[in-house]
Parts: sequence; structure tokens; C-alpha cells
Amino acid sequence: MKKVIVHGGAGDFSKSDHDITEYKEGVENAVQAGYDALVTGNALDAVVHAVSSLEDNPLFNAGTGAVLNVEGEVEADAMVMFQGRMGAVGALRNMRNPVQVARLVMDETDHVFLVGEGAYSFGRRWFDHYDPVTEERREKFEELKSHFLRGDTRWKKNAHLYSEHGTVGAVAFDGDLAAATSTGGIWLKLKGRIGDSPLAGCGTYAGEKAALSATGIGENIVRSVFSKSVHDLLPEFSLEKALKMMLAHSPETGAIAIDSGGTVEYAFNTNNMAWAICDRGNVSSFEVNI
Ligand code: ASP
Repeated sequence: MKKVIVHGGAGDFSKSDHDITEYKEGVENAVQAGYDALVTGNALDAVVHAVSSLEDNPLFNAGTGAVLNVEGEVEADAMVMFQGRMGAVGALRNMRNPVQVARLVMDETDHVFLVGEGAYSFGRRWFDHYDPVTEERREKFEELKSHFLRGDTRWKKNAHLYSEHGTVGAVAFDGDLAAATSTGGIWLKLKGRIGDSPLAGCGTYAGEKAALSATGIGENIVRSVFSKSVHDLLPEFSLEKALKMMLAHSPETGAIAIDSGGTVEYAFNTNNMAWAICDRGNVSSFEVNI
């Protein structure tokens, strides 16, 4: 039994400047890329291929097209977890595919997490310097900046101005379970801020019972140690029930999961979440009535 599920963030897609079909196509292409890698490789290959595809799509908030911090830079977070091993990067600049750097942290070092300059110079052993800032993100940054007092350390009080998600993640199953998440984080976050995505058991987790990837306001996901807590509750609780229970006060969250029996689940408490599943080669994805 081989299955892959991906997400491209939770939020209100009707507010996007882009057509919903573009998101749908993005997650469908990614889940197909993940499934193809699962057939020729393993669950880890699947999640890395799926997430790389979403990182290369400027529509999503990861890799190319990631949102900018208060200094106007992309600082990316990403993580992979597989067979009890993990690799993560935080506040990583100028790399095209942060998820691939995270995988190398897992495969090629004795560590689990590299951040900032150290993560960048580690990544440069394999990859070229890359500028992931798109013109669209730069324009939005200029627009948001006018609402924002530079140096303000409380981005949250202005969060309604720039609550836009699009973080990406993937979970795969072929007997083994793997999870990966990648993000630029939150618009105008402070330099050096690390979110939930690269923190084990928060935005990403793969254990004996299930693998999960989450999206939403990272600080809330971290405080509830969301993914590991839900992992421990599955399969007695559904992902939906666990999400309702744990993030009742964080109405901007979504997650995907596959448990060790191969049951695929997704849940979100926003208007929409971009997701796609590939189950035995058949792709299904989110439909939105507009
Ligand atoms: N969870 C991500 C973060 O806080 C953002 C998101 O999912 O949109 O870094």
C-alpha cells in the first residue's frame, strides 16, 4: 500500500490574487511527484520530492515565493523525519530547496538541526547560492511595510494585515512513514524567528503511530507541541477531533496525517486548505466552491 498526502497551507483562498485552480494544480503536481518517488524509492524520497515541487512553485510560502521577514529577507524553516531520524534547518537564507538541505542534515551529519549562517554554509557544499525572493513578494512587502513600524517586536498585533499562509508539507506511507514541512514562516516575522515547522513534534513529526505535517500560526502550534501530541492520540482520536481540541484558540490551523495502518487524514479550522492525496496512483484534491 502506497500513499502520499500534501498540503499547501490553510487559510482563505478567496482572498488570494491567484485563481484557486493554480493552487489545485500545484498540490496535484506535488503529490504526483511524491508518489512517483515513492514507487521508485521510499517514503523519505516521496516527501522530499513532493515538498521540493511546492518549494519551486512561487505560489506557495516555501522556497521560491516564501514570505519575507521584517528586514525584507526570506529566512526559511524546513524539516524531514523518517524511521526515527530527523533533519532540520531554521532561518536559512539563499537556498532553493530548504527541505533538501534538511535531508542532508539528517543523512550527512551527526546533528538534527542547523540554523542561520551555519545552515547556509552547510547547504553550499551541495547547492548554489539562490535568491528565492519573487517580485510579487517584494511588492507585498513594500505594501505591508507602510502598515508596520519597523523595529516593532509585536508583529501579532498587525497580523490581520498579513495573515497569509501557504506553508507546504507532505506525508508518505509504504509501510514506513515519513513527514516533511517547509515554510518562509509568517510575513514580517522578526529576523531569527523560528516557527513550528522545523521543530520536532510541533509542525512536523513521524513516529511509530503516524506521520504529520501542520500549518498555521507557528507559535500556537509550538505551544501545544501539536504533531507529537496528535500522534499520541491517533488512531483513537481523529485528526479533526484532535485539532479541534488542541487548537480551539488558534483558528488558523491545518494538518495532514497518515497513520501506521495507512489511514490518510486532513483537517483544518480555516475556510480552506490546499491538499492533495495520491492513493494507489489516483489523485484527489481540494475543491472549493467560488
Ligand atoms: N506554521 C508556519 C510558521 O509559523 C506558517 C504557516 O503555516 O503558514 O512558520
